[in-house]
Amino acid sequence: MRVPLTSLLGTDPLPASADVVVIGAGIVGTFTAWFLAKRGVKVAVVEKGLVGCEQSSRNWGWVRQQNRDARELPIATESLRLWEQFEAESGETTGFRRSGLLYFSNDEAEIARWARWCDFARTAGVKTEVFGSSEAKKRGGATGRQWKGGVFAPTDGTADPGLAATAVARAVRKLGGTVHQNCAARGIETMGGRVSGVVTERGTIRTPVAVLSGGAWASTFCRQLGIRFPQATIRASVAAVSLPSGTLPDALHTKDVTITRRGENLYTLAISGLGRFDPTWQKARFARDFLPMFSSRWRSLSLGTLEGMRSGHESMARWALDQPTPMERMRVLDPTPDEQTIAETRRRAAALCPAIATAQSAGSWAGYIDMTPDGVPVIGESAKLPGFLMAAGLSGHGFGIGPGVGHLAADLVTGATPIVDPLPYTHGRFEQSVWGKVADF
Ligand SMILES: Cc1cc2nc3c(=O)[nH]c(=O)nc-3n(C[C@H](O)[C@H](O)[C@H](O)COP(=O)(O)OP(=O)(O)OC[C@H]3O[C@@H](n4cnc5c(N)ncnc54)[C@H](O)[C@@H]3O)c2cc1C
Repeated sequence: MRVPLTSLLGTDPLPASADVVVIGAGIVGTFTAWFLAKRGVKVAVVEKGLVGCEQSSRNWGWVRQQNRDARELPIATESLRLWEQFEAESGETTGFRRSGLLYFSNDEAEIARWARWCDFARTAGVKTEVFGSSEAKKRGGATGRQWKGGVFAPTDGTADPGLAATAVARAVRKLGGTVHQNCAARGIETMGGRVSGVVTERGTIRTPVAVLSGGAWASTFCRQLGIRFPQATIRASVAAVSLPSGTLPDALHTKDVTITRRGENLYTLAISGLGRFDPTWQKARFARDFLPMFSSRWRSLSLGTLEGMRSGHESMARWALDQPTPMERMRVLDPTPDEQTIAETRRRAAALCPAIATAQSAGSWAGYIDMTPDGVPVIGESAKLPGFLMAAGLSGHGFGIGPGVGHLAADLVTGATPIVDPLPYTHGRFEQSVWGKVADF
C-alpha cells in the first residue's frame, strides 16, 4: 500500500450471530459500529482488507462545514462535535483538531461566492470570517503571494486519515464489538423477504440487520441483491512532502493547490476537483444518471485508463456465494497515482509555498472517490430488502461527516430519534433513473 496507515492488529473470531453486521470498515462503517456498540448492540464489522485501507486513509483529512451543500450542513456541524466526543469518550486519538481552514483567492467571483455561503451559514449558526486583501497579507505569509481575499473557518478542522478509522475500530472492540479483517462479505441471506444473515468468505453470521458501508464497492454489492444504486468513482491523486508541522498552515486551499498537515512531519498536496475518469461497464450503465454531474465537471476530469475495469470495484459480474468474489481478489483498492497530476501538483505547491520547493518528497497515492449522481450520500434502509441499510456514496465528503453518518445509521437501526433529518439521504431518490423510467440495475 502506498498510503501511510496505522493498522489494526489482528482479527476476531467470527461470531455465529450478531444484532447487526456492518460491511466495510472505513470511517463510516467503524463509526456506525461504535455508535451501535455504545447502545449495547452486538455488532460485528467485516472488512475485506484492512480497517481504513481505502478512501478513509487516502483523503486530505478535512472536516469542514465551510462551503457545504445545505443538505449536508447539519450533519457536518454534528460531526465536528462527534469527532471531539469520540476522543473524549474512547481515549483513542484520531488527530482531530479544530485547526481552522484557510482559503485564499484572487478571483473576485470566487470570493463573492464564498461570502454568499458565509451569509447563508451564519443563519445556521456557523462562524466564518471573510476577509479582504490587507487581512490576507497578514494570514498569507507562508504562501509568499498577494491575495485579494479569502475565508477562515475557525471552528472547522482536520483529522488524521492514517489514524482515524483504526482508532474507531479499536474503540468498537473495547465496547465488545468484533472486527474481522481480510473477511469479505459475499452476500446476504434472507428469510421471509428480510435479512437473516451475512455470508462472508469465512462463514455466515446470522443477523436481522446488515449495514453496507462498502465505499466504492457498494453499487456492485447492491446489484447482487437486485437493488439499484447508481455510483461512479473518480481516481484522485495526492502527493506528500516531509516538513515539520507548523511550517505551513494546517489546512490551506487555493485554486491552484490544497495543502494539509497530516500527522507531525507530513503535508499532503492536491489539486481540488481534479481527477481521472477510468471507464467501466458500471459507469456506462449509469451514464444517464451521471450526465448532469459529469457534464458540469468536465473541465476538471480527464479520461483515465482501464485500471477501473481490472480492479473489479465497478464489476457488473454476478457471483456465487460459495466462490471467491471480486472483493477477495482486490483486498485493497490501491489505484495508481496519476503521474501527470502529481508532477503538476508538486510544481504548483512549490510555486505557492517556498518551504515546499526545498522539501523532500514523501511519495504519492490515489483513491477512488465514490460519487452519487447528486453528490449526496445514501443513508437508510432499502425499500426492497427490509433489514438492509446503506451508508455509502459519500461523494468526496465522507471523512469529515463520517461520525454523523455513523450516528444517523445507528439511529435508523435502533429506531432512535435521528441526529439529523434523514430525508435528503433516502435511497428512494435513486430507485428510478433521472429520466423517470423504472430503472434496471
Ligand atoms: C484523494 C481523496 C481526498 C479526499 N478528501 C476528503 C476530505 O478532505 N474530507 C472529506 O470529508 N472527505 C474526503 N474524501 C472522501 C472520503 O475519503 C470518503 O468519502 C470517505 O472516506 C468514505 O468512507 P467510507 O467508509 O464510506 O468508504 P471507504 O473508506 O472506502 O471504506 C469502505 C470499506 O469497505 C470495504 N469493503 C467494500 N466491500 C466490502 C465487502 N463486500 N466486504 C467487506 N468489506 C468491504 C473496503 O475494503 C473499504 O475498506 C477524499 C477522498 C479521496 C480519495
